[in-house]
Amino acid sequence: MTCTAHPRQPGRAERLLLAACEQTVERIARDLRRYPRPARHLFSQIRFLFPLQEQLQAYRIIEDHVQAALERLESEVGPDAGRATALRCASINRKGKPCGREPLRGSRFCPSHKHLEAVLPPAHRGLYVA
Ligand SMILES: [Zn+2]
Repeated sequence: MTCTAHPRQPGRAERLLLAACEQTVERIARDLRRYPRPARHLFSQIRFLFPLQEQLQAYRIIEDHVQAALERLESEVGPDAGRATALRCASINRKGKPCGREPLRGSRFCPSHKHLEAVLPPAHRGLYVA
């Protein structure tokens, strides 16, 4: 399986692929709670680099590697992965951006979004996996 070669820019596809993979892993490590389907997102970014008949294989490889990254992260930081973002409200504001307010003590939501705590089950504290 190889990336689609670009005749005028050799190595361009590989560089794009590498950059997309690195960004995905960085985002998983930095902000997993707001990145619910990393494998799907990465695939959508790089699928054009592969011929159609190889895209399913590419997706499966991405899925395996993203899963391995998630397991590695969980083993290193525990089930509270993404705790760097734990001091921000888990909600999304009207503009579609993450709410940046500090959550209430013992809650994932700020005072404005505390009503959402009752909507989401408390089991959603661990990793979101694609
Ligand atoms: Zn909020």
